[in-house]
Amino acid sequence: MGAISIPQTPTTPSPNKQSAPTLVRGFSEEGTFKDREIEAVLKILPNSHINGLACIECDFMQHSLTRDNLVSEPPIPPMGRYYPDRKHIYIYDCSSRWKILCTLLHEIGHHYYQWHLEEVLINFWIEKGYPLSKPVSKYGATNAEEGFAEAYMYYVLEPFISRKESIQSTPFMLYYMARAVFKDRLLDFNLIKEALEQ
Ligand SMILES: [Zn+2]
Repeated sequence: MGAISIPQTPTTPSPNKQSAPTLVRGFSEEGTFKDREIEAVLKILPNSHINGLACIECDFMQHSLTRDNLVSEPPIPPMGRYYPDRKHIYIYDCSSRWKILCTLLHEIGHHYYQWHLEEVLINFWIEKGYPLSKPVSKYGATNAEEGFAEAYMYYVLEPFISRKESIQSTPFMLYYMARAVFKDRLLDFNLIKEALEQ
């Protein structure tokens, strides 16, 4: 895939007005996570990725709970939902910390795709990145945007995913995420590790 290069975007991101911090609610009441632990996990992501995200809300009543063990296998969405007009994420399946984290990152992937991914990079994803990559998951094969949201989640959680079909097996997608989305920023995986080990 070395022959395909990702379009250049300005190195200084366009000035994004920093909006109010994301409201996190409902997790402490449910109990699998505390609201402040979710806030801590958000710190692994560049601020620009969650800029404008109004609310992350636990809505566990929407999901029939089947409590199972923590496994290093991302669940199949929809375990949550992102409403782009309200910039609001709902998490429905709270049956494990792992599922909550996977869903949260998938939905943040939608927020980033809808509001922050530069147009040239969206077009590149739709025309080249997505069709030329093997989707990281079955759900990621739904369409380009779901493919992006899944790739986003797999990229951030990659060190914790044991299955072979991780993003490592789709090097171009890994490259796209590292370069175009995370702008070569290194992530502090300790925050995720701490969150999972509670
Ligand atoms: Zn989705």
